[in-house]
Amino acid sequence: MNPIDDDAELGFASLAVRAGQVRTHEGEHAEPIFLTSSFVFADAAEAAARFSAGEGNIYSRFTNPTVRLFQDRLAALEGGEACIATSSGMAAILATCMTLLKSGDHIVCANAVFGTTISLLNQYLNKFGVATTYVPLSDLGAWEVAIRPETRLFYLETPSNPLMELADIQALADLAHAHDILLVVDNCFCTPALQRPFRLGADLVIHSGTKYLDGQGRCVGGAVVGDRQRVGADIFGFLRTAGPSLSPFNAWVFLKGLETLRLRMHAHSAAALHLARWLEAQPAVERVYYPGLPSHPQHELAKRQQDAFGGIVSFEVRGGRPAAWKLIDATRLLSITANLGDAKSTITHPATTTHGRLTPQERERAGIRESLVRISVGLEEVTDIQRDLERGLRRLAPLP
Ligand SMILES: *Cc1c(COP(=O)(O)O)cnc(C)c1O
Repeated sequence: MNPIDDDAELGFASLAVRAGQVRTHEGEHAEPIFLTSSFVFADAAEAAARFSAGEGNIYSRFTNPTVRLFQDRLAALEGGEACIATSSGMAAILATCMTLLKSGDHIVCANAVFGTTISLLNQYLNKFGVATTYVPLSDLGAWEVAIRPETRLFYLETPSNPLMELADIQALADLAHAHDILLVVDNCFCTPALQRPFRLGADLVIHSGTKYLDGQGRCVGGAVVGDRQRVGADIFGFLRTAGPSLSPFNAWVFLKGLETLRLRMHAHSAAALHLARWLEAQPAVERVYYPGLPSHPQHELAKRQQDAFGGIVSFEVRGGRPAAWKLIDATRLLSITANLGDAKSTITHPATTTHGRLTPQERERAGIRESLVRISVGLEEVTDIQRDLERGLRRLAPLP
């Protein structure tokens, strides 16, 4: 047993470093990686007992001590009862839908969600009789109008990718619960370091561990957090049966990432706020999307709902796609890659990459213009990131 397990007073930073650890008889200080596919039983009776209970160490498709430690630590940080780790963020979304939905059920989903999430719902779940209606993320009335008797899930990300639009989690949770609907929040952009959806009434929290939980762009993985029954038993059953399992090595990278999560999220946020303010003053920049700016239509909600504004800044440049590409190609420090949540700053053109598989109409509906550029602000010196962007902006419109 972990000596901190009975201390209900521990704060976020302590849980991030300590929660979930169970030391072995070797007395190791750092968490070990159990890189083993199966486990040995003392005798046939023990094997039979573990298999029938589905508990204890059996087989790493569904039970592994390193994966369990990551799950317990993330559950503690989100304030959820149970967590199931998966091989990717998409696998976490798939596991949630496959477990909680059946043919004939209906989802109401924000139209501003990760592009692949839309593909998953439209191309695959739809094929099995699960229909989805898309609504504007921040339009509470539209969510209400979209509800049908067979609606089971509300699904959203806040802030959204890449336009940093917010949903009022509390208001949507109240609406969902009045209709017996579960609210699922993809907390990828804020992480529990900046936003705790369960405190605002969410029922399930989804993570792409690939982003900020890792924080250094090394591993792909994901997780679902929620209550003991739906996540700890039902989604666990899907994982055991279908096998979208997280590798123990990746789990270890993520759980070490959690130790520095809050420090990193505040550093990303401070640098992003600085750059957003600076970008807003540039003549070549038409519009900046960042919830930390007073010009953001949901700035007040962001202050209430989040501890800081996050590390993603999007902006539109004057001159459409050619200008956006010119700016991107002029950078030397920033990496041209679609990943985000890395210590290294990244720059991307959403319309032709992350949202390139959407139809032009779907893109239009999501508000993704050709002039849009997204940066994931890393941990380099913010003045260096600024100089890198300045070089490109100067080529678009000569500074006075
Ligand atoms: C990346 C991402 C996902 C998918 O996660 P993977 O680990 O790439 O499968 C889901 N939601 C959001 C908001 C993301 O940014």
